[in-house]
Amino acid sequence: MGHLFIRNARQVVTALQQPARGPDMSRVKVYERTSLYVRDGIIRAMGALADVEKEISGQPQVVDAEKQVVLPGLVDSHTHLVFAGTREEEFCLRNAGLSYQEAAGRAGGILSTVAATRRASREELVEIGSRYLALALRHGTTSMEIKSGYGLDEEQEIKLLQVIHDLDRMQPIQLVPTYLGAHAIPPGKTAAQYTDEVIALLPRIAGLARFCDVFCEQGYFTLEQTERIFHQALHCGLKLRLHADQLSANGGVSLAASMGAASVDHLEQISRTEIALLGSSNTCATLLPGVSLFLRYGYPPGRSLIDHGAIVALASNFNPGSCMCLNLQLMMSLACTQMAFSPEEAINAVTVNAAYSLGLERTGLIAAGAMADLVLMDLADYRLAPYFFGINHARMVIKRGRIVWANV
Ligand SMILES: [Zn+2]
Repeated sequence: MGHLFIRNARQVVTALQQPARGPDMSRVKVYERTSLYVRDGIIRAMGALADVEKEISGQPQVVDAEKQVVLPGLVDSHTHLVFAGTREEEFCLRNAGLSYQEAAGRAGGILSTVAATRRASREELVEIGSRYLALALRHGTTSMEIKSGYGLDEEQEIKLLQVIHDLDRMQPIQLVPTYLGAHAIPPGKTAAQYTDEVIALLPRIAGLARFCDVFCEQGYFTLEQTERIFHQALHCGLKLRLHADQLSANGGVSLAASMGAASVDHLEQISRTEIALLGSSNTCATLLPGVSLFLRYGYPPGRSLIDHGAIVALASNFNPGSCMCLNLQLMMSLACTQMAFSPEEAINAVTVNAAYSLGLERTGLIAAGAMADLVLMDLADYRLAPYFFGINHARMVIKRGRIVWANV
C-alpha cells in the first residue's frame, strides 16, 4: 500500500474515544493547522508540519489541505441499500394528502419493493447497489451497514447477503452485512409461520451476516417473536440490532438491551423509562432523522437520550419507502436543527458512535494508530458542516489510506 501526506489542514476534528456517551458527546478535539502522515492504511503521525515531516520516508503522495477541514470518514450504521425499483408514485400520493399506509396500500408499499427485488438477479442488484454506494462515497461515507430484508424467503435473503459481499469486494466503502429476514411478513404466510422460517434459516445465515435485526412493531413481529429470533441469532454467533419504538413503544428496547444488542434504532416513540435505561446501557441508540423529515412525523428524543447519558448515533436509513437519502451531512443538520444537537454531538454521532455500534474498532476517529478513513471538506470551520446545510461539502474521501474520491 502507498503512503499519503496531508499537509497543514485548517482543522482536524475528532472524537477523543470510542464510544462517546452523554456529556462526552459534546467534546471533540480540534487541531488547527495540522498535518497527517498515513502509511499502509493507518494514521502513523499527526501534528505540526515539521514534526510530521520527520516521520516520512520516501516520496508519499501529498495532499495540500490548507483550505479544508478533515473529519473522520462518515459511518452509516443503518441502511437498506440493496433493493430494486423506486417508489416515487407512493411519494406523490403521500404529498397529495394520503397517509403512509394509504399511499403504500394504493402503490404497493414495501411489498412492491420485495417483488421488484425478488425479480432482480444478483448481478442487477450489484449494479444498482454500486451506483448508490458511489453516491454515498462522494458525500463522505467510508463505512456502511446494509440490511437484507426485501427477499423474505431463504433463497432471496441469501441472494441479498451475497450481493452485499459482492459490493464489499468491488468498491471502497467498507460494508457490514445484517440479516433482516424479519423485516415484513411475506404474502400468504402468518407472522408465526414466517418467524419459524427465519429461525430455521439463522444457522445458514451466520457465515454471511455479522448482525441479525428484527422489525419489532405492531402488525409485524411481536416482542415474543423477536426474543425467539434473537436467542437463535446469539446461539449462531450473530450480534443483535433492533428496529424499535418507531410507531409504538412495546418493550423492544428493554429486550434488546437485556440481550446485549449493539444498537436499537428509530426510537421515535421511546418511553422515559427506556431513555433512562439506555443512559446506563452499552447499547447504542441509533436515530434516523431523515425518516421524520421525509414522512413528516415527530423526531426521536435525541436531546433527552444524550442528556441521560446514552451513546447516540445517527444514520440515514436509506430505503425506497421512508428515506430515499444517502447524505449523512444532511442527517447532521437535521440532528442540530430538529433535535437540538450541537455540531460536536452530530459529528460524534455519525463517526465514532456509529462505528462503535458496528463493532468497527479504530474507526470513526483520527489518531495515530487509527484507520486512515478521512473526509476532507471545503470549510473554514467544522461547525459549518451542519450549519451550511443541503450542500455536499466533501472535496476528498480517503479509505484505508487511499484517495477513493476527489472533486478536483
Ligand atoms: Zn430501517
